[in-house]
Parts: sequence; structure tokens; C-alpha cells
Amino acid sequence: MTYDYLIVGSGLFGSVCAYELNKIGKKVLVVEKRPHIGGNIYTENNKGIQVHKYGAHIFHTNDKKIWDYVNSFVEFNRFTNSPLANYKGELFNLPFNMNTFYQLWKTKTPDEAKSKIAEQRQEMDGVEAKNLEEQAISLVGRDIYEKLIKGYTEKQWGRNCKDLPSFIIKRLPVRFTYDNNYFSDKYQGVPIGGYTKLIEKMLTGIEVRLDTDFLKEKSIYQSLASKVIYTGPIDEYFENRLGKLEYRSLEFKTETLKQSNFQGNAVINYTERDIPFTRIIEHKHFDPVDTTHTVITREYPSEWRVGDEPYYPINDDKNMALFKKYRELSKSENVIFGGRLSEYKYYDMHQVIKSALNCIGQLK
Ligand code: UDP
Repeated sequence: MTYDYLIVGSGLFGSVCAYELNKIGKKVLVVEKRPHIGGNIYTENNKGIQVHKYGAHIFHTNDKKIWDYVNSFVEFNRFTNSPLANYKGELFNLPFNMNTFYQLWKTKTPDEAKSKIAEQRQEMDGVEAKNLEEQAISLVGRDIYEKLIKGYTEKQWGRNCKDLPSFIIKRLPVRFTYDNNYFSDKYQGVPIGGYTKLIEKMLTGIEVRLDTDFLKEKSIYQSLASKVIYTGPIDEYFENRLGKLEYRSLEFKTETLKQSNFQGNAVINYTERDIPFTRIIEHKHFDPVDTTHTVITREYPSEWRVGDEPYYPINDDKNMALFKKYRELSKSENVIFGGRLSEYKYYDMHQVIKSALNCIGQLK
């Protein structure tokens, strides 16, 4: 055995594990299928602009320990996510707050907005929300559901809102203040100079092999180390023997434009069903730089097929039942399964870090 630990995947989960294990003197090898480190938080420098290659990532947490942890590697800026929604050419502030209510109904005070919403969600009185549609209507009422939720959600998930779990919408806050901050967490920002720098710092002094597909040479790689930490899709580890877990995939269409400012905001969502993309990201607004060009990305959700990148696990009853079977199977392996793909969980970055630190804590 040449290594104490083999870590499969250099995304956030794998990199935190690698850093923590290296710190306590373990010999670690990281193998990565892609030609670069960082998993989906990877950012690429386009003449000064940090491009979020696999979708926008905004770091936010309520946990000071996690915030201090990431800041110990790189400095974070004070970016605050305040996305806008474009519905049929009109702009609305997100998340749902007093600005949005004013734009929709001209309500000016919290009491006016609350009574409007109460009227809007009357149809749900006494009904327990069983799916995303019912959850959304009981939270904010029919108007907001139809204009700002239904189209976006059905595009993103490729499913009717009636067939989606309600927890997805619970990610979105509803506020009776004029506050456009998408997240309610205490700490928020983006690493100055990009996420790749954060991962590079974590992996300093650790052997990393890129373009290396662990699953193709599983037994060879497994024989190199006493223990494996695997962060890829759990079903693929078991050659899909119990069936295939479903994901939502994304296609990113990126353009470099000869203008310094395209949309004036990092994120604008397009919430109507007939526009095929869900949002346009203008990367320079995450980590502002003074350039004469700008880079924008349109995000098109798509059904995942073999060979596509898995982005979002589809945590409905059918997939969760299958996942539980894989999890049972995984208990008989001398392998730790962690991260978004292995735990089949709609994780945010701070949760991934916490989970990786817990995982290493249990090994020590
Ligand atoms: N959502 C919505 N309208 C929006 C933005 C989000 O209905 O303009 C809903 C949608 O159901 C989505 C969920 O909120 O799946 C979570 O969105 P978020 O932007 O947090 O997802 P992520 O950034 O992880 O893709």
C-alpha cells in the first residue's frame, strides 16, 4: 500500500478531506476524472473574469467556523446574491420580498402585502401541501406561483410542479422587508480570484492525478491505498446494478461579449416556460473587475442521460427508495461515500464542507 487514503474526485468534499488528512500526516492520493481540479465549483480565468464553468456558486453559511475555515485559504469578497426575475419582459426582485410585492401589487407596507398574500393563498386554507405546487401556493399565493415559480421550476426539473417534492421551494425565503438578499445566512461571498484558488490551496502538497477515471481501473487504484473516499455517483460505483438514479443535467452556453456590462447583475432568472433557459449569469459581477469585455452564460436544464454531467439529484420517492438500497450496499465496502453525488443530496457548499469535516472527524 503506497497511500493511506485514495480520494476519488477533487471537488469540495474530496479536497476538504484531502487537506484534513494531509494535515494530520496521512499520505493521500487524489484522482480526478476531469482535466482540472475543483469539481463543479471550478472557475476559469477569462482575461481577468472568473467564469463559473459549471454554474454559479455563491458561498453562504450561518456557521462561523465554516466561514472562518474557507477564509483561512483565500479571501472572500462581500458579494450578496440579489437575483432578478424576468417574466414576460418585466423585472421583479428576488427572493420574494417587499420589493417584489410592490412590483406585483403596489402594496407598500408589510400589512398590505400580508393581506394580499392571505387573499392569494385562500385556496389552500385547511389543505396540507403535498407537493411543490401546493407548497408554493400556500407560501406566497397563486400570482407569485404562476409568474415567478411555475415556469422556472418546471423548466429546471423537467417535471410538473405537482410531481415535485415541496422541500425544493423551502430553499427560497419570503420576507416582509425591502431586502433583496437571496440568502438569509450571516456570512456570504465569493472567493476573490475564483474558487479554483480555494481548491488549489486545499490541495497544496498533495499528489493529484488528473484525467484519471477511477471506475475504469477500480481494483488497481483500490490496491494503492488502505482506505478509499469516493465522491462520484454512488450508483456508478456499483455499476448501476440496482438501477440508475436520476439527475437533472444542465447545458451552459457561454459567450464573450465586447461590452463591459451586459445585464448589470450577476443573475437574472427567466421565469416563463417558453424561454428555454432558466437564467443568464454575468460572471464579472460575482468578483468585479474592470474589463472592456464581459462573459455571460445561459443555463439550459436538460434530462440527464448516460455521459451527461449529473448536477441535481432528483430526490423524489422513487429515486430515494433506490438510493437507500445503494446506501445499504455501500455499508459492505471499505469505502467512504461522501458529497452531493455519493450522498444523492441537494447540498450547498457549506453543507458539503461540514459533512467532509464530520467524516474526517470520525476517522481520527
Ligand atoms: N425557484 C423559482 N423561481 C426562481 C428561482 C428559484 O421558482 O426564480 C425555485 C425553483 O423551484 C428552484 C428552487 O427555487 O428549483 C431553488 O432555486 P435555487 O436558485 O436556490 O437553486 P440553485 O441555485 O441551487 O439551482
